[in-house]
Amino acid sequence: MLVGVRTMPAYAVIGGQWGDEGKGKIVDYLAKDSQYVVRYSGGNNAGHTVINEKGKSALNLVPAGIFWPHVTCIIGNGVVVDPDVLLRELADLQAKDVDTSRLLVSDRAHVIMPYHVTLDALEEQAKGSRAIGTTGRGVGPAYVDKVARVGIRIGDLLRASDEDAFLPRLQQVLEQKNAIITKVYGGQAFSLDELYQKCLGWSERLAPNICATELVLREALARGEHVLLEGAQGTLLDVDHGTFPYVTSSSPSIGGAFTGVGIPPQSIRGVVGIFKAYSTRVGAGPLVSELNDEMGNAIRERAWEYGTTTGRPRRCGWFDAVAARYSAAVNGYTSLVLTRLDVLDGFSPIKICTAYRLNGKKIDSFPTNIFDLERCEPVYEEIPGWSEPTASAQRMESIPAGARHYVRRLEELTGVPIDVISTGPNREETICIRPIIGRA
Ligand code: GDP
Repeated sequence: MLVGVRTMPAYAVIGGQWGDEGKGKIVDYLAKDSQYVVRYSGGNNAGHTVINEKGKSALNLVPAGIFWPHVTCIIGNGVVVDPDVLLRELADLQAKDVDTSRLLVSDRAHVIMPYHVTLDALEEQAKGSRAIGTTGRGVGPAYVDKVARVGIRIGDLLRASDEDAFLPRLQQVLEQKNAIITKVYGGQAFSLDELYQKCLGWSERLAPNICATELVLREALARGEHVLLEGAQGTLLDVDHGTFPYVTSSSPSIGGAFTGVGIPPQSIRGVVGIFKAYSTRVGAGPLVSELNDEMGNAIRERAWEYGTTTGRPRRCGWFDAVAARYSAAVNGYTSLVLTRLDVLDGFSPIKICTAYRLNGKKIDSFPTNIFDLERCEPVYEEIPGWSEPTASAQRMESIPAGARHYVRRLEELTGVPIDVISTGPNREETICIRPIIGRA
């Protein structure tokens, strides 16, 4: 990827749109040829659905490679971890006979404490009609504490039994949090002792999984092993590059992959953008190609566009090539994966948003300013749909010509080759045009 530099075999798998692109399925699919899968950002506000021989699993924290016995999974330092959620998820996986000793958690990842979850709800409530639509899992407040340098890290939990070191820190943070919860919001204070006991329990149960994961990864890369960096959410929700303030509190885009894992840019051989064949967004914020009509409802019902984690209905619209080009510019995609092509089977015509109209002028770049973006109207190109199904197809030759034309048009508009197409939720419902992992 980097000219003149010997790259190492890491591949970033990034949500190209507003999240929910089907990263879970694709990471599970690509993990077949990988030795490591590493989550680099977000927390249990993400929900990745994987359907394979173990049935249907909704993963919030554990990387989607966990189902392959040859894969070591890592929760990187860029992730914020609610230990109760992680322990529940591990128990669910163990109940499906999945070996969870292959999961490592970075000692630098931050802990989502119960007070973060409470503050998330109280802050969102206080915003009233200006609420961002957070998932209320404490993710934002945990990142705030990381940046404010008062967060508790997973590695700190290993010292929980050292009362002289750990307890005074917990006490200091809790006093401040309790003051905000009770005095600003009139909420209920947390008990230091109960919280401390919780930390001791987490420490005992998670200790075998906690380590300096960046060292493990650097050694793996030096041995030439394939590492998948699994993104959460999507580029247009990136705290810097997304539609601020309607964004998540971390960096789902390529920059976050480096800081969230602790490996250098030379490690990256491929940057894979995952895109749905149309657009969806959960919560508030601009979605220029949104369909507030029968067509939008039809996509939502056909595709069952309701959040994996929250059950919230997703807003649906046509594929937005302006946003996709922007996403490609931010991340430098070397491949795209197009998911949910089957959802468009039978719809005709199909529209693609190729430009925006802002204040009467046609523009083809993505505005950085939310006020401009909210005023943009979509400029559409129409293409005929297809009546034969793409659903479950495994070869390019077996999908209708109309669908092939749609795929080629999206490649032209984004300027990036579509190397894999997903035609259904199951692992095998996938068309591989060019293998991604292992390619020089
Ligand atoms: P993620 O957060 O990006 O992993 O996406 P989600 O798991 O929230 O949403 C993706 C949903 O789409 C899951 O229910 C998947 O099983 C499903 N899915 C993934 N790829 C396809 C596909 O190609 N076609 C269909 N119909 N469903 C898919």
